[in-house]
Amino acid sequence: MAENTISGNARGLWRPLGVAVAIVVGLIVAGHWLWSPPDARNKIILISIDTLRADHLSYMDYARPTSPNIDRLAAESLDFRQAFCQAPSTLPSHASLFTSLYPSVHKAEISTARPLADDFVTLAEVLRENGFRTAAFVEGGQLETVWNLDQGFEVYDVTPFDKTPPGDDLVGILTKARSWIAEHRDERFFCFVHSYVVHTPYAPRSPYDRMFDEGYTGPLPWVITEDDVLEKLNEQTRWAHEPDVRHVISLYDGEVSYMDEHVGAFLDYLRAPGLWDELIVVFTSDHGEEFGDHGWVGKHAHSLYDELLRVPLLIRAPNMASQRIDTQVRLVDVAPTVLGLAGIDADDARFQGRNLLTDGRPPAVDLPVYAEQDYEWGFWAALRWPEAKIIAEPGEQYKLLDLRNDPGEMQDLYPTQPDAYAEWVQQIQRWITRNREHPTRPAAPIELPPDVKEQLRALGYLK
Ligand SMILES: [Zn+2]
Repeated sequence: MAENTISGNARGLWRPLGVAVAIVVGLIVAGHWLWSPPDARNKIILISIDTLRADHLSYMDYARPTSPNIDRLAAESLDFRQAFCQAPSTLPSHASLFTSLYPSVHKAEISTARPLADDFVTLAEVLRENGFRTAAFVEGGQLETVWNLDQGFEVYDVTPFDKTPPGDDLVGILTKARSWIAEHRDERFFCFVHSYVVHTPYAPRSPYDRMFDEGYTGPLPWVITEDDVLEKLNEQTRWAHEPDVRHVISLYDGEVSYMDEHVGAFLDYLRAPGLWDELIVVFTSDHGEEFGDHGWVGKHAHSLYDELLRVPLLIRAPNMASQRIDTQVRLVDVAPTVLGLAGIDADDARFQGRNLLTDGRPPAVDLPVYAEQDYEWGFWAALRWPEAKIIAEPGEQYKLLDLRNDPGEMQDLYPTQPDAYAEWVQQIQRWITRNREHPTRPAAPIELPPDVKEQLRALGYLK
């Protein structure tokens, strides 16, 4: 109608005004990113609490109230109850989390001293290419810069692993992360936070040391170190019901509570108006821990049972309803999912995982969980479905575990009926072959600097 009522000249007069209106509208649209209204694509926090066993968090129905703050986050999140890592070991698991590739494809592994090759594309690299400011605040050891997990991070701040006094490293890491976030809160950002606070040695400070074990009278001390106490404890087969193992579990749970209090305070900071409304928060771990489930205490990276593979996974995003999800998912799915939430094309052929929120909905079917561990003395792989798991061991040995009737994975069914499980053997062999044949250019092994060796020794990974 305006076209019919305004003369040609008059339309000419409107032109500069039209440009001005366009600029104002443009400024309003641009301003939308900066202060209002909230936009989910602005800011991402990924928290990895190393060695955090999923079933020791209270929202996971653990008998002890270890994690009121993480429970609160779970109640606001997509709460994946059946999430699994791809390696029960820090470097390969984080490399899979960042690249969405299986360990035998990226080959980042401390037992072979291979860092993550530059060729692989990481979550941080993709986000940075898409205009995100990127920073990581990590606790050394298998996340030291020599392992090359810093790809894509503008800031990669390493706190060397040193557990004296206990827990202070977590507080320092969270404080540095807060300062960086405060500096960049008006920009799109990706901030990764990592801590060994619940990893060995178990040395919770008071009152967390006695929180779950007031009556313990010994003989084990209140600080469980890797080299002497655990080594001695593991000289014989250990089971979860033994009083000494219960004591170690209580100290670990004390550390979980300590972590929960400080991560809770960090989350409270993030809940500030204007920040929380634009924030995607992912909370997870790289693997679990063993407490007498299969004969060892305070160990990981040596088997592929569920106490080591199952991890917490919470994904919180603005305007996304919280939901408990019981279908099986994997850490390789995290990077494509985060990119999807950030509005970045996640259907990338480079990824082996998948976006868990295709069309905004979580997966309705279980995804196959495949995990590996490559040691100097052999290669192990596991393929898990909710009903059963097969573990392939060196020398074409297999274990078949019925997870419905034997969730503790105590009874190996394979030797009794190997022919009945031929299809399972074929399935896991297909996975192993597919990954071995995946085109890849892994990094060459490196010589470890003395300070990194020292940290790995303190964490129990080197003698
Ligand atoms: Zn770890």
